[in-house]
Amino acid sequence: MSTESLNPLVNAQKQIKAACDLLGLDPAVYEMLKEPMRVLEVSIPVRMDDGSLRVFKGWRSQHNDALGPTKGGIRFHQNVNLDEVKALSMWMTFKCGVLGLPYGGGKGGVCVDPTKLSKRELEQLSRGYIRAIATIVGPELDIPAPDVGTNAEIMAWMVDEYSKIKGYNSFGVITGKPLILGGSKGRTDATGYGVALTAREGAKRLGMDFNKCTVALQGFGNVGSYSGLYLHRLGGKVIAVTDVFGGIYNKDGIDIEKLMEHVKKTGSVVNFPGTTSINNEQLLSLDVDILALCALENQITADNADTIKAKMIVEGANGPVTPEADKILDSKGIFVCPDILTNAGGVMVSYFEWVQNLTNLYWSEEEVKQRQEEGMVEAFKAVYDLAQQYKVNMRTAAYMISIKRVYEAMKARGWV
Ligand code: GLU
Repeated sequence: MSTESLNPLVNAQKQIKAACDLLGLDPAVYEMLKEPMRVLEVSIPVRMDDGSLRVFKGWRSQHNDALGPTKGGIRFHQNVNLDEVKALSMWMTFKCGVLGLPYGGGKGGVCVDPTKLSKRELEQLSRGYIRAIATIVGPELDIPAPDVGTNAEIMAWMVDEYSKIKGYNSFGVITGKPLILGGSKGRTDATGYGVALTAREGAKRLGMDFNKCTVALQGFGNVGSYSGLYLHRLGGKVIAVTDVFGGIYNKDGIDIEKLMEHVKKTGSVVNFPGTTSINNEQLLSLDVDILALCALENQITADNADTIKAKMIVEGANGPVTPEADKILDSKGIFVCPDILTNAGGVMVSYFEWVQNLTNLYWSEEEVKQRQEEGMVEAFKAVYDLAQQYKVNMRTAAYMISIKRVYEAMKARGWV
């Protein structure tokens, strides 16, 4: 076993430091960026269905607001902790930066397994969480959204609770809402669509014919399922999928639309007709063109990076590849499309949603999709060109673009 740190905060700091050094920035800039500007820790009491009272721990981290209000999702997961929330908020700053969105980075989380709560308990927790952080969020301050373990329904409860506190409807405080409450068309599938667009752009640069590309897909939640769907629709052949319960394989390709129906019915990809079973470790080391990592952090580490055979990795999740693993993948010539670029479609369409809320003018699905494609293709090109110019990997190039923007905003404000 390697001694590499699996603390996402330590790993996010390493990524930022590498880019700051390459840009030759004053060490004070790294000092400003290595920790969030503000973190709030909250305790949320919830009356459970059996009459007992449980208190859940939660956080909201606001990393940097030089470019605009902070923005980022809320995670409900049993492993959520302070360092993870901080790291996720840092990645949000650079994700918004690389796309050129007028936002800084934020992130929230509650340490809870949401699948173990009843619907009423989940609603109470969601309302309790937003009440606890209500003083530090707002359409011009910090704008939450869904993340792992949260969805549009939870956002609806939160926007309702926040609006009650304010005494008026405040749709712009949260994105990823249901359409009927000011949500945007194309938001639910936005992250997955962006993952597929990034994979297509990457394949082009590597001279691979996307229509002949085989794909292994880790994760089948919101990001994984829509990544699979669009990879499939854009011409790729998904031959393996895993989720938390197990995995499936078919060398001739898996029909993702049918698989989504199967998951809706059974709750998992396991036992999908016409496939054999595969575990996560086997999926990661499949000899495929594209490996799409759409689950959680630390999936490829110094311990298993050597087993990867894919030509290209697309990071649908945040932080799935560690810095030590990056070095090994680089030495093997594997092209990694980093999280802050690859999964930025979600926050990009969140930005469109927020703009629609602020203007009260709603866009068609085509308009959303077209603007997303334009924005992501342009960001991909800028990162790829810089990576070529500086002879660095895509992650470092993405950080260089983004840190430069954040730095310029901090400088213009007189912070550094
Ligand atoms: N949670 C998503 C992310 O990690 C989306 C954030 C947002 O839309 O604000 O990028």
